[in-house]
Amino acid sequence: MESRYYDPEIETASRDKLRRLQEKKLKAIVQHAWDRSPFYRKKFEEANVTPDQIKSRDDISRLPFTTKEDLRKDQQEFPPWGSMLTLPIEECQRIHMTSGTTGQALRVVDTAEDWSKFCHAHARMLYAYGIRKTDMVMPAFGFGPFIGFWATYYAAEEIGCTLLATGGFKTQQRVNTLVAYPITAMGCTPSYAIYMAEEAKKMGIDLRKDAQIRITWHTGEPGGGIPSVVKKIEEALGCKAFDFIGSTEIGPWGFNCEFQSGLTHINDDWALAEVLDFDTDEPVGPGQTGELVLTNLERRANPFLRYRTRDIVTVADRTCPCGRTLFCLEGSVLGRLDDMKKVRGIIVYPSRIEEIVREFKEMDEFQIVFTRVHDLDEIIVKIDPVAELARGSYPGFQNKVEKALQVGLGIRASVEIMEHGTLPRWDHKAKRIVDERKDVPF
Ligand SMILES: [Zn+2]
Repeated sequence: MESRYYDPEIETASRDKLRRLQEKKLKAIVQHAWDRSPFYRKKFEEANVTPDQIKSRDDISRLPFTTKEDLRKDQQEFPPWGSMLTLPIEECQRIHMTSGTTGQALRVVDTAEDWSKFCHAHARMLYAYGIRKTDMVMPAFGFGPFIGFWATYYAAEEIGCTLLATGGFKTQQRVNTLVAYPITAMGCTPSYAIYMAEEAKKMGIDLRKDAQIRITWHTGEPGGGIPSVVKKIEEALGCKAFDFIGSTEIGPWGFNCEFQSGLTHINDDWALAEVLDFDTDEPVGPGQTGELVLTNLERRANPFLRYRTRDIVTVADRTCPCGRTLFCLEGSVLGRLDDMKKVRGIIVYPSRIEEIVREFKEMDEFQIVFTRVHDLDEIIVKIDPVAELARGSYPGFQNKVEKALQVGLGIRASVEIMEHGTLPRWDHKAKRIVDERKDVPF
């Protein structure tokens, strides 16, 4: 019988074996960073730590953290690659850039070997979603410098899938491609999956019937881990939708599996995960929430050691029925430390608001505004309803959403129902959150 796992010896290894493997790789990457990266040599010296002090996995706490700000400063000071780079650029093969929504885009470089391991880590995820070599795969993205779905292409190739790239295609062309060819699997941002289904509808195409997609996976935005968004995509495309979690700096580190159990598996042999208390930076236990700090164990050109992801996650206190022994998180990334909003002293995650409003079929598009009225913080959720919703139903709809938000957030939020078509639609990275307040907490 075909195995459920792509790398059974890793995915079902004992925790002890995984720990020893992580330890071995950690020592090697720390030594490499010390020997070859001026950025890390300086950082280690400032923190008074040398590679010989890293004897076990727990010794990782001796290492200094790396932040996005460190990376930005390093690349400004030593343009364009920064002093973190451990090899001459001509020995590297691939350059990717962060999407750079805040500040200047950052560059992350990989050797051929780094990249091959990167794609392998991603192939394991595709396999866990149920992708097999008999699938025809369409990565629906622009093939620009953003790392996004690049690895999807090579990961699917590694599995042996048939690939049809659509970089440069407009949405209508992609919809036509899905209808014309037996494409069974697709990777794109969650917003784009929903947008595609809506565009298809306008073209008189129902992707559930007219296309053959059975599996999709999503990254670039948190939606792939928000149950109501996943449900919406699954209903619109007639498929199973999965969460592909990664970043330019660390690579593909987290995924859910065909059981859709609400847990996120971490590629332990690729990224060593720590979940640290927001205030003390001490590791938190099962069932507890903290900031995810990741150490990439395999990328040699740009090693990222103890990288503060700013992602808020909860350590799982249960196991997945799939039998994987990899380190697990409860749910997906719950939010970003940078996105966490404090409203009248209460912490609010915009992703939670999204989850609540997406439950309503009357909702087409939305915007969340944090504002201050008479020195008091207010949350205003603007809702752009579906065209079919009769004007007379607006007040009742508004009332229903306000009640759901009050229950779901534990704090009052005002809802405004707009004219249909008022709010902007997003095809890729959606910007649905507006914070108008000055002197915002955090
Ligand atoms: Zn699982």
